[in-house]
Amino acid sequence: MNEITMQKSITEAVQTGIIDCDVHNTVPSIKALYPYLPVRWQDYLSEHDIKSLEPNYYPRGTPLAARPESVPESGAPPGSDLQLLRQQVLDPLNVRCAVLNCLYGVQMIHNEDLAAVIARALNDWQREEWLNKESRLRASIVVASQNPERAVEEIHRLGSDPGFVQVLLLVRSEKPYGKRYYWPIYEAAEHYGLPIGIHAGGVTGYPIMPVGWPSHYIEDYVSQSQAFQTQVVSLVSEGVFQKFPRLKVVLLESGFTWLPSLLWRFDKNWKGLRREVPWVDRLPSEIIHEHIRLTLQPVDEPPQPEFLLQTIEQIGSEDMLLFSSDYPHWQFDHNEDALPVKLSTSLEKKILFDNALSVYQLDKN
Ligand code: ZN
Repeated sequence: MNEITMQKSITEAVQTGIIDCDVHNTVPSIKALYPYLPVRWQDYLSEHDIKSLEPNYYPRGTPLAARPESVPESGAPPGSDLQLLRQQVLDPLNVRCAVLNCLYGVQMIHNEDLAAVIARALNDWQREEWLNKESRLRASIVVASQNPERAVEEIHRLGSDPGFVQVLLLVRSEKPYGKRYYWPIYEAAEHYGLPIGIHAGGVTGYPIMPVGWPSHYIEDYVSQSQAFQTQVVSLVSEGVFQKFPRLKVVLLESGFTWLPSLLWRFDKNWKGLRREVPWVDRLPSEIIHEHIRLTLQPVDEPPQPEFLLQTIEQIGSEDMLLFSSDYPHWQFDHNEDALPVKLSTSLEKKILFDNALSVYQLDKN
Protein backbone atom coordinates (compact mmCIF):
# COMPACT_ATOMS: atom_id res chain seq x y z
CA MET A 1 0.00 0.00 0.00
CA ASN A 2 1.45 3.31 -0.99
CA GLU A 3 1.80 5.90 1.72
CA ILE A 4 2.34 9.16 -0.01
CA THR A 5 -0.54 11.20 -1.23
CA MET A 6 -0.81 10.82 -4.93
CA GLN A 7 -1.33 13.69 -7.27
CA LYS A 8 -4.50 13.86 -9.19
CA SER A 9 -3.73 13.25 -12.77
CA ILE A 10 -6.76 13.90 -14.90
CA THR A 11 -5.06 15.13 -18.00
CA GLU A 12 -5.54 15.19 -21.69
CA ALA A 13 -3.75 11.85 -21.84
CA VAL A 14 -6.20 10.25 -19.45
CA GLN A 15 -9.12 11.69 -21.36
CA THR A 16 -7.79 10.06 -24.52
CA GLY A 17 -7.83 6.70 -22.82
CA ILE A 18 -4.96 5.08 -20.99
CA ILE A 19 -3.47 1.65 -21.62
CA ASP A 20 -3.29 -0.65 -18.62
CA CYS A 21 -0.52 -3.20 -19.20
CA ASP A 22 -1.08 -5.49 -16.22
CA VAL A 23 -4.55 -6.66 -15.25
CA HIS A 24 -5.22 -10.09 -13.80
CA ASN A 25 -8.15 -12.24 -14.76
CA THR A 26 -8.74 -15.24 -12.57
CA VAL A 27 -10.11 -18.66 -13.44
CA PRO A 28 -13.09 -19.13 -11.07
CA SER A 29 -12.64 -22.91 -10.92
CA ILE A 30 -11.03 -25.60 -13.00
CA LYS A 31 -14.51 -26.59 -14.20
CA ALA A 32 -14.53 -23.33 -16.19
CA LEU A 33 -11.80 -24.80 -18.39
CA TYR A 34 -13.57 -28.11 -19.07
CA PRO A 35 -15.40 -26.87 -22.19
CA TYR A 36 -12.00 -26.09 -23.71
CA LEU A 37 -10.31 -29.38 -22.79
CA PRO A 38 -10.38 -32.65 -24.74
CA VAL A 39 -12.55 -35.29 -23.06
CA ARG A 40 -9.46 -37.36 -22.34
CA TRP A 41 -8.07 -34.58 -20.16
CA GLN A 42 -11.41 -33.79 -18.55
CA ASP A 43 -11.48 -37.43 -17.48
CA TYR A 44 -7.90 -37.19 -16.26
CA LEU A 45 -8.66 -34.22 -14.01
CA SER A 46 -11.84 -35.85 -12.69
CA GLU A 47 -10.24 -39.22 -12.06
CA HIS A 48 -7.33 -37.60 -10.23
CA ASP A 49 -9.73 -35.37 -8.31
CA ILE A 50 -7.81 -32.25 -9.33
CA LYS A 51 -10.09 -29.43 -8.23
CA SER A 52 -7.80 -26.51 -8.88
CA LEU A 53 -4.49 -25.52 -10.44
CA GLU A 54 -4.82 -22.00 -9.10
CA PRO A 55 -1.74 -21.15 -7.01
CA ASN A 56 -4.12 -19.10 -4.84
CA TYR A 57 -2.75 -15.62 -5.20
CA TYR A 58 -5.60 -14.30 -3.06
CA PRO A 59 -5.89 -16.59 -0.02
CA ARG A 60 -8.89 -15.89 2.22
CA GLY A 61 -6.59 -15.82 5.23
CA THR A 62 -4.76 -12.81 3.83
CA PRO A 63 -7.58 -10.56 2.69
CA LEU A 64 -5.20 -7.71 1.85
CA ALA A 65 -3.81 -9.75 -1.05
CA ALA A 66 -6.53 -8.21 -3.19
CA ARG A 67 -8.64 -5.11 -2.92
CA PRO A 68 -11.77 -5.99 -0.91
CA GLU A 69 -14.15 -4.57 -3.50
CA SER A 70 -12.70 -6.87 -6.16
CA VAL A 71 -14.25 -9.93 -4.47
CA PRO A 72 -17.53 -10.80 -6.23
CA GLU A 73 -20.66 -11.18 -4.10
CA SER A 74 -20.77 -14.82 -5.20
CA GLY A 75 -17.56 -15.45 -3.27
CA ALA A 76 -15.68 -16.24 -6.47
CA PRO A 77 -12.01 -15.21 -6.48
CA PRO A 78 -10.94 -11.60 -7.06
CA GLY A 79 -10.38 -10.88 -10.71
CA SER A 80 -12.92 -13.43 -11.93
CA ASP A 81 -15.76 -10.98 -12.62
CA LEU A 82 -15.67 -9.02 -15.88
CA GLN A 83 -18.39 -6.62 -14.76
CA LEU A 84 -16.40 -5.65 -11.66
CA LEU A 85 -13.33 -5.10 -13.84
CA ARG A 86 -15.38 -2.74 -15.98
CA GLN A 87 -16.72 -0.89 -12.94
CA GLN A 88 -13.47 -0.69 -11.01
CA VAL A 89 -10.84 -0.18 -13.73
CA LEU A 90 -11.96 0.13 -17.33
CA ASP A 91 -14.64 2.78 -16.82
CA PRO A 92 -13.26 4.95 -13.97
CA LEU A 93 -9.74 5.10 -15.43
CA ASN A 94 -11.04 5.54 -18.97
CA VAL A 95 -8.96 2.60 -20.13
CA ARG A 96 -8.66 2.35 -23.87
CA CYS A 97 -7.01 -1.06 -23.69
CA ALA A 98 -6.04 -3.39 -20.86
CA VAL A 99 -3.70 -6.36 -21.21
CA LEU A 100 -4.81 -9.43 -19.25
CA ASN A 101 -2.07 -11.49 -17.64
CA CYS A 102 -3.72 -14.65 -16.40
CA LEU A 103 -1.62 -16.20 -13.64
CA TYR A 104 -2.42 -19.86 -13.32
CA GLY A 105 -0.59 -22.98 -12.30
CA VAL A 106 0.47 -23.99 -15.80
CA GLN A 107 4.18 -23.66 -15.07
CA MET A 108 4.08 -25.89 -11.98
CA ILE A 109 2.66 -28.95 -13.76
CA HIS A 110 5.31 -31.64 -14.24
CA ASN A 111 3.29 -33.51 -16.87
CA GLU A 112 4.25 -31.52 -19.96
CA ASP A 113 1.31 -32.77 -22.03
CA LEU A 114 -1.15 -31.71 -19.34
CA ALA A 115 0.59 -28.35 -18.97
CA ALA A 116 0.30 -27.71 -22.70
CA VAL A 117 -3.41 -28.58 -22.90
CA ILE A 118 -4.18 -26.49 -19.81
CA ALA A 119 -2.37 -23.52 -21.38
CA ARG A 120 -4.33 -24.03 -24.57
CA ALA A 121 -7.64 -24.30 -22.69
CA LEU A 122 -6.77 -21.25 -20.63
CA ASN A 123 -6.15 -19.18 -23.72
CA ASP A 124 -9.38 -20.36 -25.35
CA TRP A 125 -11.24 -19.54 -22.11
CA GLN A 126 -9.68 -16.06 -22.13
CA ARG A 127 -10.79 -15.48 -25.69
CA GLU A 128 -14.33 -16.71 -25.11
CA GLU A 129 -15.04 -15.30 -21.65
CA TRP A 130 -13.06 -12.05 -21.74
CA LEU A 131 -11.86 -10.91 -25.16
CA ASN A 132 -15.07 -11.71 -27.02
CA LYS A 133 -17.14 -9.96 -24.35
CA GLU A 134 -15.14 -6.75 -23.90
CA SER A 135 -13.52 -4.94 -26.80
CA ARG A 136 -11.15 -2.98 -24.53
CA LEU A 137 -9.37 -6.16 -23.44
CA ARG A 138 -6.33 -7.88 -24.92
CA ALA A 139 -4.57 -10.88 -23.42
CA SER A 140 -1.19 -12.50 -23.07
CA ILE A 141 -0.71 -15.98 -24.48
CA VAL A 142 -0.12 -18.29 -21.53
CA VAL A 143 2.45 -20.92 -22.44
CA ALA A 144 3.84 -23.98 -20.70
CA SER A 145 7.43 -22.73 -20.67
CA GLN A 146 8.74 -26.00 -19.20
CA ASN A 147 8.50 -27.35 -22.75
CA PRO A 148 9.51 -24.63 -25.26
CA GLU A 149 8.48 -26.80 -28.21
CA ARG A 150 4.88 -26.95 -26.96
CA ALA A 151 5.02 -23.27 -26.05
CA VAL A 152 5.99 -22.44 -29.62
CA GLU A 153 3.02 -24.45 -30.94
CA GLU A 154 0.71 -22.30 -28.83
CA ILE A 155 2.33 -19.07 -30.04
CA HIS A 156 1.85 -20.18 -33.65
CA ARG A 157 -1.79 -21.07 -32.90
CA LEU A 158 -2.61 -17.64 -31.50
CA GLY A 159 0.12 -15.32 -32.76
CA SER A 160 -2.06 -13.79 -35.48
CA ASP A 161 -5.15 -13.51 -33.28
CA PRO A 162 -5.81 -9.78 -32.71
CA GLY A 163 -6.85 -10.45 -29.11
CA PHE A 164 -3.45 -11.74 -28.05
CA VAL A 165 -0.64 -9.19 -27.82
CA GLN A 166 2.08 -10.78 -25.68
CA VAL A 167 3.63 -14.10 -24.62
CA LEU A 168 3.58 -14.57 -20.86
CA LEU A 169 6.43 -16.08 -18.85
CA LEU A 170 6.99 -16.01 -15.09
CA VAL A 171 10.15 -14.65 -13.53
CA ARG A 172 10.89 -17.75 -11.46
CA SER A 173 12.13 -20.02 -14.22
CA GLU A 174 13.90 -23.36 -14.46
CA LYS A 175 16.87 -21.73 -16.20
CA PRO A 176 17.90 -18.13 -16.82
CA TYR A 177 15.82 -16.82 -19.71
CA GLY A 178 18.84 -15.91 -21.80
CA LYS A 179 19.68 -19.58 -22.31
CA ARG A 180 19.31 -20.98 -25.82
CA TYR A 181 16.79 -23.47 -24.46
CA TYR A 182 14.20 -20.66 -24.58
CA TRP A 183 15.21 -19.13 -27.91
CA PRO A 184 12.52 -20.93 -29.96
CA ILE A 185 9.94 -19.05 -27.86
CA TYR A 186 11.61 -15.74 -28.70
CA GLU A 187 11.87 -16.62 -32.36
CA ALA A 188 8.12 -17.32 -32.53
CA ALA A 189 7.24 -14.22 -30.52
CA GLU A 190 9.39 -11.99 -32.71
CA HIS A 191 7.84 -13.52 -35.82
CA TYR A 192 4.40 -12.29 -34.74
CA GLY A 193 5.63 -9.01 -33.29
CA LEU A 194 4.70 -10.12 -29.77
CA PRO A 195 6.72 -8.92 -26.77
CA ILE A 196 7.68 -11.39 -24.08
CA GLY A 197 6.06 -10.46 -20.77
CA ILE A 198 7.85 -11.69 -17.65
CA HIS A 199 5.62 -11.46 -14.60
CA ALA A 200 6.43 -11.89 -10.92
CA GLY A 201 5.75 -15.39 -9.65
CA GLY A 202 6.28 -18.92 -10.79
CA VAL A 203 6.76 -22.25 -9.10
CA THR A 204 9.68 -24.31 -10.31
CA GLY A 205 11.27 -25.93 -7.28
CA TYR A 206 13.97 -23.29 -7.14
CA PRO A 207 14.12 -20.56 -4.49
CA ILE A 208 13.74 -16.99 -5.61
CA MET A 209 16.91 -16.14 -3.67
CA PRO A 210 20.28 -17.35 -4.96
CA VAL A 211 21.39 -18.42 -1.47
CA GLY A 212 18.61 -20.88 -0.70
CA TRP A 213 15.06 -21.04 0.57
CA PRO A 214 13.68 -18.20 2.71
CA SER A 215 11.39 -18.75 5.69
CA HIS A 216 8.72 -16.16 5.04
CA TYR A 217 6.52 -14.89 2.25
CA ILE A 218 7.84 -11.36 2.77
CA GLU A 219 11.35 -12.55 1.94
CA ASP A 220 10.11 -14.29 -1.18
CA TYR A 221 8.11 -11.31 -2.40
CA VAL A 222 10.79 -8.68 -1.69
CA SER A 223 13.39 -10.87 -3.39
CA GLN A 224 11.42 -11.19 -6.64
CA SER A 225 13.30 -8.11 -7.85
CA GLN A 226 16.55 -10.09 -7.63
CA ALA A 227 15.10 -12.62 -10.05
CA PHE A 228 14.06 -9.85 -12.45
CA GLN A 229 17.59 -8.43 -12.36
CA THR A 230 19.02 -11.87 -13.05
CA GLN A 231 16.77 -12.37 -16.04
CA VAL A 232 17.71 -8.98 -17.50
CA VAL A 233 21.42 -9.69 -17.10
CA SER A 234 20.98 -13.15 -18.63
CA LEU A 235 18.97 -11.94 -21.64
CA VAL A 236 21.55 -9.27 -22.47
CA SER A 237 24.68 -11.35 -21.75
CA GLU A 238 23.53 -14.38 -23.73
CA GLY A 239 22.91 -12.22 -26.79
CA VAL A 240 19.15 -12.67 -27.08
CA PHE A 241 18.67 -9.18 -28.47
CA GLN A 242 21.42 -9.59 -31.06
CA LYS A 243 19.78 -12.80 -32.23
CA PHE A 244 16.26 -11.32 -32.11
CA PRO A 245 16.74 -7.60 -32.78
CA ARG A 246 13.02 -6.80 -32.93
CA LEU A 247 12.17 -8.55 -29.65
CA LYS A 248 10.88 -6.54 -26.69
CA VAL A 249 10.63 -7.84 -23.12
CA VAL A 250 8.16 -6.33 -20.66
CA LEU A 251 8.82 -6.87 -16.95
CA LEU A 252 5.47 -7.06 -15.19
CA GLU A 253 4.99 -6.32 -11.49
CA SER A 254 8.77 -6.13 -11.18
CA GLY A 255 9.20 -2.74 -9.58
CA PHE A 256 11.69 -0.45 -11.30
CA THR A 257 13.62 1.43 -8.62
CA TRP A 258 16.34 -1.25 -8.77
CA LEU A 259 17.03 -0.55 -12.41
CA PRO A 260 19.44 2.45 -12.31
CA SER A 261 21.98 0.74 -10.07
CA LEU A 262 21.83 -2.42 -12.20
CA LEU A 263 22.49 -0.36 -15.34
CA TRP A 264 25.48 1.33 -13.72
CA ARG A 265 26.94 -1.94 -12.42
CA PHE A 266 26.31 -3.79 -15.68
CA ASP A 267 27.91 -1.05 -17.81
CA LYS A 268 30.92 -0.78 -15.52
CA ASN A 269 31.64 -4.51 -15.55
CA TRP A 270 30.96 -4.85 -19.29
CA LYS A 271 33.82 -2.41 -19.91
CA GLY A 272 36.24 -4.82 -18.24
CA LEU A 273 34.70 -8.15 -19.27
CA ARG A 274 33.23 -7.57 -22.71
CA ARG A 275 35.78 -9.80 -24.44
CA GLU A 276 33.96 -12.70 -22.79
CA VAL A 277 30.70 -11.73 -24.53
CA PRO A 278 31.79 -10.08 -27.79
CA TRP A 279 28.25 -10.20 -29.17
CA VAL A 280 27.28 -7.63 -26.54
CA ASP A 281 28.56 -4.93 -28.83
CA ARG A 282 27.47 -1.85 -26.92
CA LEU A 283 26.78 -0.74 -23.40
CA PRO A 284 24.26 -3.06 -21.71
CA SER A 285 22.27 0.00 -20.67
CA GLU A 286 21.79 0.89 -24.35
CA ILE A 287 20.49 -2.59 -25.11
CA ILE A 288 18.19 -2.50 -22.07
CA HIS A 289 16.88 0.94 -22.99
CA GLU A 290 15.99 -0.37 -26.43
CA HIS A 291 14.52 -3.76 -25.57
CA ILE A 292 13.25 -3.84 -21.98
CA ARG A 293 10.08 -2.23 -20.65
CA LEU A 294 8.66 -2.26 -17.10
CA THR A 295 5.17 -1.79 -15.74
CA LEU A 296 4.50 0.83 -13.11
CA GLN A 297 2.79 -1.01 -10.27
CA PRO A 298 3.75 -1.90 -7.63
CA VAL A 299 5.82 1.22 -7.10
CA ASP A 300 8.54 0.95 -4.47
CA GLU A 301 7.84 4.43 -3.27
CA PRO A 302 10.55 6.24 -1.34
CA PRO A 303 9.54 8.50 1.55
CA GLN A 304 10.10 11.63 -0.54
CA PRO A 305 8.21 11.87 -3.86
CA GLU A 306 11.14 13.74 -5.40
CA PHE A 307 13.31 10.64 -4.88
CA LEU A 308 10.96 8.73 -7.15
CA LEU A 309 11.26 11.43 -9.80
CA GLN A 310 15.05 11.22 -9.50
CA THR A 311 14.90 7.45 -9.93
CA ILE A 312 12.83 7.78 -13.08
CA GLU A 313 15.37 10.30 -14.38
CA GLN A 314 18.26 7.96 -13.46
CA ILE A 315 16.77 5.20 -15.60
CA GLY A 316 17.96 7.30 -18.50
CA SER A 317 15.03 6.77 -20.84
CA GLU A 318 11.45 7.99 -20.89
CA ASP A 319 10.39 5.10 -23.09
CA MET A 320 10.59 2.27 -20.58
CA LEU A 321 7.73 2.62 -18.08
CA LEU A 322 4.23 1.41 -18.91
CA PHE A 323 1.15 2.23 -16.88
CA SER A 324 -0.38 -0.67 -14.98
CA SER A 325 -3.04 -0.98 -12.33
CA ASP A 326 -2.11 -4.56 -11.39
CA TYR A 327 -5.80 -5.07 -10.57
CA PRO A 328 -7.03 -6.73 -8.41
CA HIS A 329 -3.85 -6.73 -6.35
CA TRP A 330 -3.80 -4.48 -3.36
CA GLN A 331 -1.11 -2.24 -4.81
CA PHE A 332 -3.65 -1.04 -7.32
CA ASP A 333 -4.32 2.31 -5.67
CA HIS A 334 -6.03 4.34 -8.34
CA ASN A 335 -9.42 5.56 -7.29
CA GLU A 336 -8.92 9.17 -8.32
CA ASP A 337 -5.27 8.87 -9.24
CA ALA A 338 -3.61 7.12 -12.10
CA LEU A 339 0.03 7.90 -11.31
CA PRO A 340 2.05 7.92 -8.09
CA VAL A 341 3.64 11.33 -8.58
CA LYS A 342 3.09 14.39 -10.70
CA LEU A 343 5.15 14.02 -13.86
CA SER A 344 5.84 16.25 -16.80
CA THR A 345 3.02 16.21 -19.30
CA SER A 346 5.18 14.56 -21.96
CA LEU A 347 6.40 11.78 -19.63
CA GLU A 348 2.91 11.21 -18.29
CA LYS A 349 1.63 10.78 -21.82
CA LYS A 350 4.40 8.31 -22.59
CA ILE A 351 3.71 6.22 -19.48
CA LEU A 352 -0.05 6.28 -19.86
CA PHE A 353 -0.15 5.20 -23.48
CA ASP A 354 2.62 6.11 -25.95
CA ASN A 355 5.14 3.62 -24.56
CA ALA A 356 2.57 0.82 -24.58
CA LEU A 357 1.58 1.62 -28.15
CA SER A 358 5.19 1.22 -29.24
CA VAL A 359 5.40 -2.26 -27.66
CA TYR A 360 1.97 -3.81 -28.18
CA GLN A 361 0.02 -4.28 -31.38
CA LEU A 362 -3.28 -3.31 -29.81
CA ASP A 363 -5.21 -2.83 -33.02
CA LYS A 364 -3.90 -5.59 -35.25
CA ASN A 365 -6.33 -7.24 -37.63
ZN1 ZN B 1 0.67 -8.20 -11.94
